[in-house]
This record gives sequence, C-alpha cells and structure tokens, in this order.
Amino acid sequence: MKKALVLGAGGFIGSHLVKRLKKEGYWVRGVDLKNPEFSKTAADDFVVGDLRDPQIVKNVFRLETHPEHKDIIYNYSYHKQPFTEITQFDEVYQLAADMGGAGYIFTGDNDANVMHNSALVNLNVVHSAAEYKAKKVFFSSSACIYPEHNQLDPNNPICTEASAYPANPDSQYGWEKLFSEILYDAWRRNYGLDVRVARFHNIFGPEGTWQGGREKAPAALCRKVAELGPEGPIEVWGDGEQTRSFLFIDDCIDAVRTLMDSDFYKPVNIGSEEMVTINKLIDIIAEVADKKVVKNHIDGPLGVRGRNSDNTLFISKVGKNYVNPLKEGVEKTYKWIQDQLNSQ
Ligand code: NAD
Repeated sequence: MKKALVLGAGGFIGSHLVKRLKKEGYWVRGVDLKNPEFSKTAADDFVVGDLRDPQIVKNVFRLETHPEHKDIIYNYSYHKQPFTEITQFDEVYQLAADMGGAGYIFTGDNDANVMHNSALVNLNVVHSAAEYKAKKVFFSSSACIYPEHNQLDPNNPICTEASAYPANPDSQYGWEKLFSEILYDAWRRNYGLDVRVARFHNIFGPEGTWQGGREKAPAALCRKVAELGPEGPIEVWGDGEQTRSFLFIDDCIDAVRTLMDSDFYKPVNIGSEEMVTINKLIDIIAEVADKKVVKNHIDGPLGVRGRNSDNTLFISKVGKNYVNPLKEGVEKTYKWIQDQLNSQ
C-alpha cells in the first residue's frame, strides 16, 4: 500500500486530494492548522499542527510501522507503541500556504505574514523530506510567479513556464512561491530530493472558501449572485475587463496525480486555457443561476490585467490536457454555494 503525506490537508485542494488518494487505495496522513471546514477528512490519520514549527514537521514525516508487520502503520497522533521503525512516505504533497484571494494577497496588508509563514513551512518541509527520505515531493506553486510586465495586455498575457525569468511577480505571495520553487530545486540538486512543481492557475470548485475575505473570484461572485433575488446589482472590483482562466478542482487533481506519476521535475502550469474576462465569468454565473445581474463596478484589489494558463509544456512533457468547460464547473460550484447559503 502506498503511503502519502498531504500538507495543507485541511484546505480546499488538500482535502480534495486526500479524497482522491484514498479512492486510489493510499494510506494517507493529512496535516493542517485546522480540520477541513466543509466535510470530514478522508485521511487515515489527521494531525492538527503548525508546519512553521520544525519539530512538528519532523514528527509528521516520521512514518512508524511495526518491525514485523510493516503493513501496519501507527497513527502519529494516537499511538505510543514501544517497538516501531521509521519507513518512508512514497509521496508528499506540500499544499500548505498562507494564502487567499485578491482581497488577501493584493492589498499589501498581509505581505509580511504571507512571506514569513509560507517560507518557514517550505524550509521545514524540504529539510524533513530529505532527512526522512520521502520518495517524491510535490510543491504547489502559483501563476502569481509570472512577471507583471508580461500580463498587462488582457487579450495576450504570456504565461509560458520559460517566461518566469527575469522575475517580476506583482505580489509578495508570488515572490515567496518563486523563492520556494528555487528552494525545492536546490534540494533536488544537492540532496537528491525527487520533486514535482506545479504552477496552479485559479483553481475553483465546491468546498473552497466562499466568504470571509480569503475567497477567490469565482466563489465570491457565485456567492454575490446567489444572495440576490431574481435580479439586482452586485459589486465587481475594477472594470471587469481583466482576464483570467479557472480550472475546476477535479481537473486540477487529475493533473496533479498525472504530474506526480511523470518524471518531469521542472515547474509546469496546471490551469485552464479557457480565458474569460471577469465580466464574462459573471455572465456565465448569471446564466447558471437564471438571474438578471447588474454589474456595479467599484475600486478594489485587482492583480494583473490579464492571465491565462499555457498548457503546451504540460501536454508535451506530462500528459493530456484535463480541462472541462468552465460552465460545467460553475454549475457545480454555484449549486454548492447556494446550498451553503440556504443551510446558514
Ligand atoms: P487553502 O488556503 O484552502 O489551503 C491551504 C491550507 O494550508 C489551509 O488549510 C491552511 O490552514 C494550511 N496552512 C497554512 N499555513 C499552515 C501552517 N503553518 N501549518 C499547517 N497548515 C497551514 O488553499 P488552496 O486553494 O487549497 O491552495 C493549496 C495550495 O495551492 C497553496 O499552496 C496555494 O498557494 C496553491 N495555489 C492555489 C491556487 C488556487 O487557485 N486555489 C492557485 C495557485 C496556487
């Protein structure tokens, strides 16, 4: 039985990934500051702990088995067995980060925490992954690493992997991700850590943060539309002509698993190439909700003017393009957010 460690397993992508790994027959340990918010974790062992603490990271990387029954794994959080030995995790997925949508990472107010918290986690993780000989480590980077000057034209943003340097991310969140990409690569070169690095482009879907300030555009806009009657105004940050692409969570998890099974260790985009303006995204949500929505444009944190995933490298080096139409993902997400609102 393969054994996986999912860091950030209480978060949106992490909790979905745990479910997938369990379906595939893995033994899974999840770690996070908090339990998943919207459903019980599917992990065999779930540790609530702060990965900024190096001792906690060491503890969660220790995978203890009975010396004579190596298929029996003891739960770090509960067991106190005297006779154990440490074995390796087959796969580690590092998704923990201090992050949120534009309202969290583009105001500048959280820059110090974002950089400090996420860098500490990644510094601890590479060290323990090498010390406890994790066989493969996945790191979730972000499209926010791409240079601002290549994303000024909303109709023609450049987000090929090679365009990352010379670096000029538009947020400290992006700079930390770039630092950590280089960190994982240094541990690959110097200590033989087998790494996989994905640059996620706007992942969305059910069980993602949808209120409270850390939610991202698709969830925030679905919520605003769901809160309306049959028609009415919603507030939209900026003129709504900024472009983005959005990848549904199931497609994201498919791509992550394919990347992990490949031998491609360089950073690669995981995103959708279906670029839309924010205004268009609102129109899709309005159509799904069957409501007449008036867009009230106000000032707000925006990020770059245009961004789209470029999947050329993924398709040529990793696997097929796992991307379903945006509208299908919006239908599932809108319904879930509507249910959340109704159950409040
Ligand atoms: P999320 O915020 O839902 O999940 C991140 C989890 O990390 C949270 O549950 C949080 O509690 C946990 N965490 C943060 N600091 C921690 C610490 N010190 N110790 C333990 N746990 C800690 O975010 P997500 O959308 O699931 O994103 C997962 C990863 O993918 C992140 O690294 C994020 O930067 C990256 N990413 C996501 C997107 C996206 O669109 N969702 C886009 C680009 C990159």
